[in-house]
Amino acid sequence: MARRRQLYEGKAKILFEGPEPGTLVQYFKDDATAGNGAKKGIITGKGVLNNRISEHLMLRLHDIGIPTHFIRRLNMREQLIREVEIIPLEVVVRNVAAGSLAKRLGIPEGTRLPRTIIEYYYKNDSLNDPMVSEEHITAFDWACAHDLDDIVALTMRTNDFLTGLFVGIGITLVDFKLEFGRLWEGDEMRIVLADEISPDNCRLWDAKTSEKLDKDRFRRDLGRVEEAYQEVAWRLGILPEATNSDMKGPEVMQ
Ligand code: C5P
Repeated sequence: MARRRQLYEGKAKILFEGPEPGTLVQYFKDDATAGNGAKKGIITGKGVLNNRISEHLMLRLHDIGIPTHFIRRLNMREQLIREVEIIPLEVVVRNVAAGSLAKRLGIPEGTRLPRTIIEYYYKNDSLNDPMVSEEHITAFDWACAHDLDDIVALTMRTNDFLTGLFVGIGITLVDFKLEFGRLWEGDEMRIVLADEISPDNCRLWDAKTSEKLDKDRFRRDLGRVEEAYQEVAWRLGILPEATNSDMKGPEVMQ
């Protein structure tokens, strides 16, 4: 395989130069972190499953007209994406109280929120991704008011669509995190959905039992982490036709 230049290594993914200008290759690792890297581990096969799950969800969102960075999956652990200028925000959408919202406001986990709540966090590891308001975002020029309008509209549509998709397979979409980027086509700029959508950045609870089927199993040492990711893939109907060897080691890439 031709060597490709590594551009960036994150906690769960690596970005390589793509085969043509304006494209990148996104490689999904099995590495898992929690608490901004305070806790580290490996979830065997996670990269393979997240690659498939994110592909599936991005394609379904594309089907309803939501622009995304996704072009196509290349192999078990890699997908081809459009190079975008990442907006330095984590956009968190909440339907049910859990995690940091439950803790911060003293609302019992599992309480259905009166309406969907969107929160913004400034993407900055050294500051621990602090929560910010629209005022901070526009004052510091991370995004303009018009960009934010687009982000909110895309976020709400994504939430409505994914909530329904997961209801159909017996899963409650409790909350999740999205990232957006600017895609330039000549002088035209569009905001598109970027990063990934997977059990790494969604809270997914079994609708009947409330069993957690997401990264909280790793964050909270609940065990059966791999099985939870597999369960989500099974229910989506996309468990890869992987052999055990496919699921284990990362491919030699550099
Ligand atoms: O921890 P918190 O409750 O704020 O997380 C809300 C949602 O955002 C969860 O689904 C979590 O997986 C996701 N998240 C993320 N990356 C972060 C912080 C939160 O994917 N850095």
